[in-house]
Amino acid sequence: MGALRPTVDTKFHIDFSWWDKQNKNVRVLLVEHLCEECRENIGSVSEPKIVDMVDPVTAEVSKVDAVWEAVRACCSTKPDYLTSETPLIDSIFRVFLANGNQPLSAQELYERLDKRPPEVILRVLTKGTVHLGIRPT
Ligand SMILES: [Zn+2]
Repeated sequence: MGALRPTVDTKFHIDFSWWDKQNKNVRVLLVEHLCEECRENIGSVSEPKIVDMVDPVTAEVSKVDAVWEAVRACCSTKPDYLTSETPLIDSIFRVFLANGNQPLSAQELYERLDKRPPEVILRVLTKGTVHLGIRPT
């Protein structure tokens, strides 16, 4: 596997090793997705804080940045988390933040976002540069 051409059923996720390799701090980006309330509470804390995130489906516990857990548990439930004005790539990123980075295909992203057809989503995710570390699993 691996050499296969991605299709609308190929699963994608946020590859955090990509962020490490780019020497980019994913935390800086995560803070941008906080709601106003959380931004006031934890957005200004410069020290990374690691908390347990419990998968709502499998009950599996993983260690994640406190900012991400806040996005998942709080901010992603706010009505303005995903709007029609949110750019497609940001919307996809936000879906993964909200679901704990569970792999999703272009088809599944389309069903959640209802913005662009799955073929367009696939093209955005596979053409040219990697966006926000979103890569095939
Ligand atoms: Zn929040």
